[in-house]
Amino acid sequence: MVDLQAQYQRIKQDIDAGIQDVIDSTAFIKGQKVADFQAHLEAYTGSGHIIPVGNGTDALQIALMALGLQPGDEVITPTFTFIATAEVVALLGLTPVLVDVDWQTMNMDTESVRRAITPKTKAIVPVHLFGQCADMEALTELARLHHLYVIEDACQAIGAQYTFANGQTRQAGTMGTIGCTSFFPSKNLGCYGDGGAVFTDDDDLAERIRAIANHGSRIRYHHDIVGVNSRLDSIQAAVLDAKLPHLDEYIAARQKAADYYDRAFAGCDRLLIPGREAHSTHVFHQYTLRIVGTDRDALREALAQRGIPSMVYYPVPLHQQKAYLDPRYQDGDFPVAERLAQCVLSLPMHTELDEEQLAYITSNVLDLTLDN
Ligand SMILES: *Cc1c(COP(=O)(O)O)cnc(C)c1O
Repeated sequence: MVDLQAQYQRIKQDIDAGIQDVIDSTAFIKGQKVADFQAHLEAYTGSGHIIPVGNGTDALQIALMALGLQPGDEVITPTFTFIATAEVVALLGLTPVLVDVDWQTMNMDTESVRRAITPKTKAIVPVHLFGQCADMEALTELARLHHLYVIEDACQAIGAQYTFANGQTRQAGTMGTIGCTSFFPSKNLGCYGDGGAVFTDDDDLAERIRAIANHGSRIRYHHDIVGVNSRLDSIQAAVLDAKLPHLDEYIAARQKAADYYDRAFAGCDRLLIPGREAHSTHVFHQYTLRIVGTDRDALREALAQRGIPSMVYYPVPLHQQKAYLDPRYQDGDFPVAERLAQCVLSLPMHTELDEEQLAYITSNVLDLTLDN
């Protein structure tokens, strides 16, 4: 699905030198590399403040803690996504309110969000799924009208650009009250372990987020608020700082592979190519087909037999996950998400796909789909 080895080989010298610097300095925690990477990522994204943390899930948890949400407060999040959002909402005793997604873009459906808002709603968490921004114009407007916080889950979408009706272009993670991202190795900007970051333009929130990520401490051994321990370590920061200058190339390589897939599958009505948000670029963390009129799981097995990996992101919507079963929700409540869980299939997507590989993948997908 990904080829991190080939990507490493192309910038091996920079990565090795960065890691060696950290070892030589022995500043493994809170070293200069972390400060450097933070500054470079602030410049790249245009975010006022970036607070590096231990992983993307921590970023989401710290964001919710920083906003001072209380048990019982409702947080609206899509049911078709990775588990992290619902997990941190549950851990903090908040009430997750799930909404359905759009069939074409697979992102949070704005009308469903509008209907889910109650007097207890405190925040909306749009997930920029698979690499394109959710409908941020409408979602930020809804949030403004109802005085809600917006926490962007930009874990899959770093570098995606959204253009508002007034012509202003903003990056994923910089449009909400707080943005969260992950540097998990297979993410579009991935390190060689765990990593994540919190984005905000608000100076006071930034200071609070920094304290929460540091045991709730502003002055050493003085703890004003309950916090956590969540840090990006210096070796990971060195890897990320070496990769960040290449992020735009990486995005372009993914988009080129996606274009190839789109062209190959355009004429096949059993393979629906990913729908595009009107106002967002797509950085293709995943290239996800919807397989209709043929058996997705049989196709997946047949592809595997020909040496082609594929994955189902995500096979079970949040409202059908055992740990999160909730009497408020029944099977059938989120028909789009449930249908997507049955039919999505993600193909190999990374920065090193060449034409030969793409031709092999697409011709086999087409063959096997038509045979079925
Ligand atoms: C990867 C991911 C996360 C969690 O990031 P980790 O760094 O693995 O904790 C959260 N949300 C989404 C949508 C993700 O893809």
